[in-house]
Amino acid sequence: MQTQGKINLFNFGPAQLADFFVSIGEKPFRATQVMKWIYQLGVDDFAQMTNLSKALRQRLSETAEVRVPQMITEQRSSDGTIKMLLRLHDGNAIETVFIPESTRGTLCVSSQVGCVLNCSFCSTARQGFNRNLNTAEILGQVWWAAKTLGQFELEQSQRIVSNVVMMGMGEPLLNLSNVAPALQMMLADNGFGLSRRRVTVSTAGVVPAIAELKQQADVALAVSLHAVRDDLRDELVPINKKYPIKELLDACKSYVKDTARGRITFEYVMLDGVNDSIAEAKALVKLLKGIPSKINLIPFNPFPNSPYLCSSASTILQFQNILVNSGLTTMVRKTRGDDIDAACGQLAGRVQDRTRRSERLLQRVSGAV
Ligand code: SAH
Repeated sequence: MQTQGKINLFNFGPAQLADFFVSIGEKPFRATQVMKWIYQLGVDDFAQMTNLSKALRQRLSETAEVRVPQMITEQRSSDGTIKMLLRLHDGNAIETVFIPESTRGTLCVSSQVGCVLNCSFCSTARQGFNRNLNTAEILGQVWWAAKTLGQFELEQSQRIVSNVVMMGMGEPLLNLSNVAPALQMMLADNGFGLSRRRVTVSTAGVVPAIAELKQQADVALAVSLHAVRDDLRDELVPINKKYPIKELLDACKSYVKDTARGRITFEYVMLDGVNDSIAEAKALVKLLKGIPSKINLIPFNPFPNSPYLCSSASTILQFQNILVNSGLTTMVRKTRGDDIDAACGQLAGRVQDRTRRSERLLQRVSGAV
């Protein structure tokens, strides 16, 4: 994305940034210097990058820029969760959520404006889809959060954003060409410097892109499984019709093959009377046999006109016990930030829907009243 012909350096991964400097006749190590300024010190003004020559700073300010989306609002939940709404240049807006915990700070990052996947229990799906985010808009979320939270004033070792999960709006593996350079910058020592295990991409199951992700950025993988049978998963996560459970799990096995201690996180939303029976818990154990995994049970977060209810606490516990007793690490995800609509599946942003899905749904709902 460019303003008045200027190149936005935020749109580059580490390798592309080095290529950019070479293309203007500079040494590739300039990329390392600039990365440190931007991602470790939070400096977005070339004039302040004092280890670059005056001439280079001048040249950069004429041809390039460091431009992130603009922050619109910041809402704080009573539990410390912070939801940030970022305005994009075209009028769309996306949401990013920071979740502080005692041992880590996790940032939940969006990859698209809306989503095309239409999962039946997700409110982002109701918003329809507008477009992919570019690399600057993805990285910009991490940068804004770091800035807002005061991270750039601290030593590298005192990271406030210690973990990134691509679990906000959108399907990251349908936008890998923009997501991969952003992930590479999150991992780069001179970028955000996060460890591979602390950056997670979550997918609803875009099978061919899973192997591609491993090649481009070997980060932790989470898979939104949610059902143990294809007929039910077809309904909850419609991309399953294209890439059914067996193919998805095969791709997961290949993803962690040869990775020491690598595990896949399986997300499983708890829907009352839909996917939460004892038989399904047992089937899940069988299904995941042979795949190094951990399971995240997610209590369903309701949203207006959502067709499901959350399983009861005792059902969730019972489901968890079956998994745990079979040796599977299983956590129940704490619902965070629900008082500000920042919980899983509640992120909506402001999507100028191109698919007209939101309009059709509205008609259906109002017609039914
Ligand atoms: N498209 C990717 C990234 C989104 S991650 C994916 O599907 O994995 C968001 C996570 O929240 C997914 O596991 C999703 O299934 C889950 N989720 C969506 N709506 C939810 C809701 N209403 N309640 C709880 N979890 C939800």
